[in-house]
Amino acid sequence: MTPPARKDAALMDADVREKIHLEILKRTGAYHANDHILLPSGQHTTEYIEKTLVTTEPSFTEGLGAVIAKHFAPWPLDVVLSTGPGALILSHCVARAHPSRPTVMYGTKGVSGGKRRVTLPAEFHRLVRPGAKVLIVEDLVSSGQTVRLLTQLVEELDAQVIGIGALWRRTKRSEVDGKPIFSLVSRDFPTYAPEVCPLCKKGVPLNQEFVKRREARRPSLAQEHEAS
Ligand SMILES: [Zn+2]
Repeated sequence: MTPPARKDAALMDADVREKIHLEILKRTGAYHANDHILLPSGQHTTEYIEKTLVTTEPSFTEGLGAVIAKHFAPWPLDVVLSTGPGALILSHCVARAHPSRPTVMYGTKGVSGGKRRVTLPAEFHRLVRPGAKVLIVEDLVSSGQTVRLLTQLVEELDAQVIGIGALWRRTKRSEVDGKPIFSLVSRDFPTYAPEVCPLCKKGVPLNQEFVKRREARRPSLAQEHEAS
């Protein structure tokens, strides 16, 4: 038998790796599948990822961080930058495993003048030298808005974004403004308006647990937003 072409092997490899990463996220309880879930937007879906639970198992986070670090190992890095508690834990693991031994820092999320902003604490500014090479680390990338805000921050300091490392990419795009995204899982789940939802049609009970949990957290929503 002839061995499969190299490209096929690489694709299969990526597929297998993604399945393993998905299984790891399932074990943390962060990833839910085969359900009928109400999303904060009012749409229905079969899958959901709870950001808060993604980094609860240190050995898993370390392993996943090491995979991201390995991908970016050929590029020298000075800084690993993130925002939000989950991404910060992951970014520590990425930086620890990267051969350049980059420093780790974080921006703080907030809202000012009705706009979402990310600010870099002043103490970090002198650590980002002009021309510094920065890797952005995110737990979940969907719209890419947080990545964009972090990129702006880096560019205002005359530093350079090398790429974006993420656990999960919910967008089909493999880059944000020309910066490549490397993600352990690249998967978007279909969402349905309630009136056309196939699960509603089948009479599957609707799981409202995730929306209820978010509602309970609402007072802190100005600082920590899901639409990243
Ligand atoms: Zn439904």
